[in-house]
Amino acid sequence: MLQQPPPWWSPVVAGLVPYVPGEQPKIERLTKLNTNENPYPPSPAAVQAIRAAATDGLQLYPDPDASALRRVIAARHGLALDEVFVGNGSDEVLAHAFFAFFQQSGAPLLFPDITYSFYKVYCGLYGIPYDTVPLDDQLRVDVEAFARAAGQPNAGVVIASPNAPTGEGLPLATIERLLQLFAQRLVLVDEAYVDFGGESAMSLVGRYPNLLVVQTLSKSRSLAGLRVGFACGQRPVIEALERVKNSFNSYPLDRLAIAGAVAAMQDEAYFDQTRQAVMNTREGLALQLEDMGFEVLPSQANFVFVRHPGHDAKAIATALRAKGVLVRHFSLPRIDQHLRISIGTPEQCGILVDALREILA
Ligand SMILES: *Cc1c(COP(=O)(O)O)cnc(C)c1O
Repeated sequence: MLQQPPPWWSPVVAGLVPYVPGEQPKIERLTKLNTNENPYPPSPAAVQAIRAAATDGLQLYPDPDASALRRVIAARHGLALDEVFVGNGSDEVLAHAFFAFFQQSGAPLLFPDITYSFYKVYCGLYGIPYDTVPLDDQLRVDVEAFARAAGQPNAGVVIASPNAPTGEGLPLATIERLLQLFAQRLVLVDEAYVDFGGESAMSLVGRYPNLLVVQTLSKSRSLAGLRVGFACGQRPVIEALERVKNSFNSYPLDRLAIAGAVAAMQDEAYFDQTRQAVMNTREGLALQLEDMGFEVLPSQANFVFVRHPGHDAKAIATALRAKGVLVRHFSLPRIDQHLRISIGTPEQCGILVDALREILA
């Protein structure tokens, strides 16, 4: 870290606190259960489409509107083309949404105290104040606490469902309650993990003009490396995102990404097979972890959030790493005794369980 920023830095940069992603190790042969990637490769049809796109016109700019991809997403969710926005990973979509909707005369944005840590980073980038709404003592989203906050000036709500890193999927009734409580503000529902058993709010888009639902192809479509995310909402919401995007980068999705994402979205059979495998493995792993004395929060995501009453979480993570198994530990208030473990293949989870047995013995 620089002690003294050079005078040519914009002052705001000196104060930025960037997001720190989970480790992407350069050495292989590690069992990588720390960044919620899908353990299965992408659809073979997606790989084939990327190969074909690589030899077909890379000298040309891609479609700035990525219409082919937006059409496939719109059809899948029963929406119109102009109710869909796409971006370079859902992180970019989220960043544009924060810029487009949450700069509201200094009123604070609301999100849970324990949630995706990138939300605070975007607030820092755009100078958006925020208030956190504590999860209840079982680490569940506390909608009554949001109801109390709704009476005060605020810039809107961001909610991850399923939440990260707890794994709790919110019932649609809870999302609807938030949409009604915050009817004058945007409610952003980040559904990065919804395909692993959560209830999607896509069906509410037609009825709530203040709803934006954000999803990604990084997790359930096994395409974290391709960087494709999308958002759905009514036309005026999408138009705001388009204005921001077209003031920033006309071509956030390249030709390979558009081709691969279209093919992945069309391969429904592969999608169902792999997400079902992940969910089955999750249920088996949860039982094995409970057998070892872990407390496992109910999860609708491709990870479990666990703690062991008799062992320090950071010590377990360090011991696992020494055995070549990566999991995620957050040195944060309330959750520093928890570990987030991504669901791997049955074989990877077997390696994890064997390593944990040795460590706890
Ligand atoms: C992984 C994740 C994202 C970002 O996904 P990308 O599309 O890969 O940028 C967004 N929100 C949550 C809650 C996530 O866990």
